[in-house]
Amino acid sequence: MGKPSYGDRDPVAAIATPLAESALALVRTSGGGSGEKGQSAQSVIELLSGVFSQPGKLLAAEGNSLVHGWIIDPSSGKKIDEVMVSLYRAPRSYTGEDCADISCHGGIATVKAIMAALKQTGFREALPGEFTFRAFMNGKLDLTQAESVMELVAAKTGRGREQAVRRLAGVLEKEINEIKSLLVEVLAGVEIYLDYSEDEFLGTDDDETAGRLPSRNLAEEAAGRLKNLAGNWYRERIYAEGALAVITGKPNAGKSSLFNYLVREDRSIVTNTPGTTRDWIEALISLEDIPLRLVDTAGLRDLRSSHEENTEAENIGIKRTLDLLDKADLILYVIDGAEGITGEDREFFLRHKDSAPHIPTLFLWNKADLALPPSLALPPSIDEKDEKKLPGKILPLSAKTGKGISELTFSICECLIKKESEGTQVGPGTLRQKELIDAALTSVEEALALAAKEAPLDVIAPLFRSAVNVLGEITGEVSGEDIFDAMFSKFCVGK
Ligand code: GDP
Repeated sequence: MGKPSYGDRDPVAAIATPLAESALALVRTSGGGSGEKGQSAQSVIELLSGVFSQPGKLLAAEGNSLVHGWIIDPSSGKKIDEVMVSLYRAPRSYTGEDCADISCHGGIATVKAIMAALKQTGFREALPGEFTFRAFMNGKLDLTQAESVMELVAAKTGRGREQAVRRLAGVLEKEINEIKSLLVEVLAGVEIYLDYSEDEFLGTDDDETAGRLPSRNLAEEAAGRLKNLAGNWYRERIYAEGALAVITGKPNAGKSSLFNYLVREDRSIVTNTPGTTRDWIEALISLEDIPLRLVDTAGLRDLRSSHEENTEAENIGIKRTLDLLDKADLILYVIDGAEGITGEDREFFLRHKDSAPHIPTLFLWNKADLALPPSLALPPSIDEKDEKKLPGKILPLSAKTGKGISELTFSICECLIKKESEGTQVGPGTLRQKELIDAALTSVEEALALAAKEAPLDVIAPLFRSAVNVLGEITGEVSGEDIFDAMFSKFCVGK
């Protein structure tokens, strides 16, 4: 057997469950059988029968059936474990090849011994994502569905899982294919028109091919639907990776207390001494099913500027905090309500307004159990006329008593979800898909802009052609092997 590669047809096996003590574990195998694309390799069912206590039963079993028996060590002939084999015959299996899933007992030694027996009899260890790769190559899944398998494994909340399942069910593939059909229709119209004018059917005047984009409405519909898909990326990314919510503010304002309240476990140091949270600490929480990467940063005094007295470690902390603030999906700025709004707070308001007005910010008046915010709660240097320009609103709360936390939760969700676009709920699940959707949209928009300027159709046609190709890349109809290797190698082994 040469160096394993995604394209080969070797019989493969992988431990599909975590290697740990557990009630049961699963060893998966795939290869051979007369699949949709006519695999030539030896069937894993024949191969497995060489280390199975009931080879005849296994070989005679129908697809989608269970066979009970023992895995036998081929060197010693001793029994390794009592197992149930779920048997699938090509093409009716996940990969489209013959497959046998071995359910065994969950001990680490047992699973390892079964894998060793399989390798001795001719299986090789599967590469990461190789089962899904084979499913894709055998036409069982398109590329968006294959990617959604990985999304499903990594889903952090119910909403993330639901979105991945929708893509697995082919919702994104369907939308992309429908948009592609629209563009193919436009392109067909353009090409017929170009052919006719070449045949002088419509005369030889150059102007004949200008300003007459056939089925312009279809191209506009395609652009609108692509824009919708691209617009849904923000929400999909939040569901998949979690939104980065950075808690910042002056030392002692109550950032750690708020962090702990939200995390509901004592993870950062809560103390009366200003500036004890020198670096930042992160926890993944779920607010109304939105995964939130909540970060408690260093005190604001530390990050205002690199004072001479700051140590190197502090300066590294400051830089990391500033980087985090730049990357944040949401900033939770904590004001020390017991002190009121100070010059440092004002400095943050003003700097933030200039430097990152696009990042939603909630200004939190903490310690509201000690002092309520003044009626308008506006910093004195910002007059009322400027109120609209404030990058967020001020919410009173107490990290000590929990008052105002449910309003905060509501506001956080509102800030993050209001960015959801209306319209179709389907969106790209990976950056790869998003970038290709953007590329297709750019081409269609450019084509429409040229058509509006009455540019000749032979200049416009290549843009539609490129959009159609790019959409084919999303579903995997048109893609290079290198893309597959890069994509599937990010999967788990056994998936
Ligand atoms: P940080 O430096 O901003 O992280 O502030 P801490 O969370 O360490 O809190 C500083 C002090 O303020 C601690 O003594 C907390 O118990 C206290 N504190 C925090 N939040 C509240 C609050 O809502 N009400 C009151 N009364 N005290 C609070």
